[in-house]
Amino acid sequence: MSVFSRLAAFLVLLLAMPFLGAGPAAALEPVQISQEDVAIDLMPAVDLYRDKGRSFQVSTVPGADGIVRRIEVEANSANASGSWAVFALANNTDEQIDRLIVVPHFKLAGSGLLWPDLGAQRVAAITPSEGFALERQPSSEADVFLVTLDPGSIITFVAEMSSDTLPEMRLWEPDAYKDTLNAYTLYRGIVLGIAGLLAVFLTILFVVKGSAMFPAAAALAWAVLAYICIDFDFWQKLVPLIAGGEQVWRAGTEVALAFTLVLFLYAYLNLNRWHGVLSAFTLIWLIGLLGLGAAAAVDPPLAAGVARLSLGLAAVVGLGLILYLAWLGFDRAIMLVPSWLLILVWLAGAWMTVTGRLSNDIIQPALGGGLVLIVLLIGFTVMQHAFAGSGIGSGLISDLERRALALAGTGDAVWDWDVTRDRIFAASDFDGAAGLPIASMNGPARNWLPILHPDDRDRFKLTLDTIVEHRRGRIAQEFRVRSEDGHYHWMSLRARPILGSDGEVVRCVGTLKDVTDHKKAEERLLHDALHDQLTGLPNRELFMDRLAAIGSLAALRPELKPSIFVIDIDRFRQVNDAFGIATGDTILLTIGRRLKRLLKPQDSLARLSGNQFGLILVSQTDVEGVAVFAETLREAITAPIQFNNSEIVLTGSIGLTGWSDTRCEDVLREAELAMYQAKRLGGDRIEPFRPAFKVAGFSRLEMESDLRRAFSRNELSLAFQPIVRLESGATAGFEALLRWEHPRRGPVSPSEFIPIAESTGLIVQLGQFALDEAARRLSDWQKLTGDPALTMSVNISSRQLIRQDLLNDVSAILKRYELASRTLKLELTESLVMDNPERSAQLLTRLREMGVGLSLDDFGTGYSSLAYLMRFPFDTLKIDQSFLKNDRRPQRPIIVSSIVTMAHELGLKVVAEGVETEADAEQLRKLGCEYAQSFFYAAPLSADEARRRLQDGMGGMKRAV
Ligand code: C2E
Ligand code: MG
Ligand code: MG
Repeated sequence: MSVFSRLAAFLVLLLAMPFLGAGPAAALEPVQISQEDVAIDLMPAVDLYRDKGRSFQVSTVPGADGIVRRIEVEANSANASGSWAVFALANNTDEQIDRLIVVPHFKLAGSGLLWPDLGAQRVAAITPSEGFALERQPSSEADVFLVTLDPGSIITFVAEMSSDTLPEMRLWEPDAYKDTLNAYTLYRGIVLGIAGLLAVFLTILFVVKGSAMFPAAAALAWAVLAYICIDFDFWQKLVPLIAGGEQVWRAGTEVALAFTLVLFLYAYLNLNRWHGVLSAFTLIWLIGLLGLGAAAAVDPPLAAGVARLSLGLAAVVGLGLILYLAWLGFDRAIMLVPSWLLILVWLAGAWMTVTGRLSNDIIQPALGGGLVLIVLLIGFTVMQHAFAGSGIGSGLISDLERRALALAGTGDAVWDWDVTRDRIFAASDFDGAAGLPIASMNGPARNWLPILHPDDRDRFKLTLDTIVEHRRGRIAQEFRVRSEDGHYHWMSLRARPILGSDGEVVRCVGTLKDVTDHKKAEERLLHDALHDQLTGLPNRELFMDRLAAIGSLAALRPELKPSIFVIDIDRFRQVNDAFGIATGDTILLTIGRRLKRLLKPQDSLARLSGNQFGLILVSQTDVEGVAVFAETLREAITAPIQFNNSEIVLTGSIGLTGWSDTRCEDVLREAELAMYQAKRLGGDRIEPFRPAFKVAGFSRLEMESDLRRAFSRNELSLAFQPIVRLESGATAGFEALLRWEHPRRGPVSPSEFIPIAESTGLIVQLGQFALDEAARRLSDWQKLTGDPALTMSVNISSRQLIRQDLLNDVSAILKRYELASRTLKLELTESLVMDNPERSAQLLTRLREMGVGLSLDDFGTGYSSLAYLMRFPFDTLKIDQSFLKNDRRPQRPIIVSSIVTMAHELGLKVVAEGVETEADAEQLRKLGCEYAQSFFYAAPLSADEARRRLQDGMGGMKRAV
């Protein structure tokens, strides 16, 4: 580059005269240079001229010859700012001196806080008053010019500036400059290396541990790396920057620092966990900083200024948060305190630097190093979390540690008996340790004896002695330790002896565990296995066991004479149906308690099955005493049970037998047979066993199979109980009742076989048979009497009601026997319709539409109100026999009268069942009750008897007419 030719054209020598231009008033003083100078700050000697345009004139200092010249310099570079700097150097020595004029592009110190100077090329060229333009030396971070001063020369230099400011200008001894640069390069290399490693390490940590604080810390580390890459002039070496590009990078990294600091604070302190508002606030802040990042490309100083403010704000807000959370005891916050203090110190230093309060050569690299130090500290903090506690999860534990952890995991105590010193150590912090006499459990083995249950002491002692003596084996024992409140804890000890070098047992080590809950559960299970859940009474198994024990005792002591009872609650199924299982259970419980109260300690009561109790009576041996006892049993059952403002009266069938020299199963069987007999005879009675029952009695299974065959063997028939008009005593109709004549057992009651037929499904056939047979008889008798209004009532069971075919069956039968539909009446009980109210309502309505009569049977045994039942289209109501039979209580007539009145109001005819006396009949008649059906008028009759009755009745009626 022919500098000379270009400059010569502009260099004009003028006459010496004071130049009074726009320059500074002080006269320019040449800086004296000596051989020893290393670095001279030229700034005090520089005159700055602004806005002078591309052409600049200035007077030189007087040269060696004392002449002041005037020189004019023409701007040469494209980006000349119009500012010029003028300074003069004087070499008073007699040697030539080489110096470097160094003007750094960027200087942090004094760069400003809000609108910082982010660096730029400062000097485009330097023109001396003599000689050639100075030669620019290659450097990416400063404008460096080599100047050679001849001995005795005084030269004025005019620097053409490419920016308006000149933060620093120094005159360096070239070797010293190189050395300094080298020293800094080493330092920068080290710091950059550490920063790079940190960034990579934290990133890897994030990959390994997926907690948000790691990527945030890694991001901060990368931002710091980026910042010092720019600050240490490393990036510029890699990427040649376009003019002004450096500013964008610098502002960008500062924004990145601000951004990642906020991000780190948020992620590390888990701020989202504390408050949603904090999250929103942080998000807005971060979005703002992202926008700032974009703005950095357009206006770097503005972006950098805001980023610096954000840094300061983040530091202050962070300090507040950290102190607050630390005060709350949040351990992360406490651990971050040192790092944050360093950040605060750094920021204070940085603030003093950029505002020019602190200005020296090392502050800028020191701040860069400080940043790395901060990241290092944060890295340590974060790593503590990475490895705290969870380090164990990564599989780096020894077998011994694993065992220790496993033991801690089980919650068992360590039990360690140092045999040679006779010291037992039992850890005090295991599950269930509360309340145990820990002090006595730690110490000599003998201290254990007083705290052990007396029954366990000898066993405990013996076990320890045996282990020591035999030098092998295992302790696996359960014993009771008395807690401080006097309760015993069941403890399980499992330990093993450890032998010393001499083959003797030196210690026994194992675990100790509180197994009280286990033991209780075991006892409970044992109890449950032998006791009935509901009543808490012994169950059948325990009863049989006791029976066997009593039996063997009775064989030795003839005077013992035990009696065995089986008690069955009558019609209990109906109670369950009507009131629900829960009430049924309560009633059973009540009866169980009542029976239990009658016993002496030597007697025992058990619940054998659903509604059956078994009783072994030993306290009474004479026949009369047993009979009296049996009667009290019966009365205990029949005593009314108060329930929800109403009373339930139950009866029981009681069978009993004495001890005979047979197996206990047979004895129980005898009592059962007697009970069945009592039931057959109507219940509510006591029946002693007689050998004849053995033939009569048969099991449910037998009954089932016999019932199946009953059809083919023609054992089933219908009985017809007249329903009479109370007014006249005339037969209004009949109720068809099933009868089973068993070939061996004789007549079996429907209340015995109907439930079985229902449970096996046979009831469908039975029902069809009853319906068909009853309709056939009715049609015969209507023809016989010529009375087309004669009715026939047929009982319907639940199975029949559920089946779809009932409607078809009924209509088919009506057709087959040409019956007026209203003369056939179906009887349903309340519990039956209530089982499935929707379906019943639907079906009954259809039947009603066909004209069939519908009677509500056994009214008063259930629980529903009559008004409710009137949702179903019944036309007749049958008051249950329990209202009239055996009932002498004063309120009964009132109840009956109100039922009759209400039924009439609802448009129902009333049939009273179980009328026993003329007085009852009279009363009912007065009430306007239409019909009665009871033994008092007529028992159920065979078909022939019924026919005869009708014929007689006709005579009677004829007579009456
Ligand atoms: P229910 O429908 O209430 O029938 C009336 C029961 O009361 C009959 O008992 C009858 O003999 C009895 N009885 C009538 N008057 C008196 C009296 O003054 N005092 C006493 N203590 N009892 C009297 P039975 O024949 O033993 O029938 C018992 C139950 O068996 C019937 O009660 C009915 O629910 C059912 N049942 C009978 N036949 C059939 C049938 O063909 N199908 C269905 N599903 N159930 C039937
Ligand atoms: Mg009936
Ligand atoms: Mg009835």
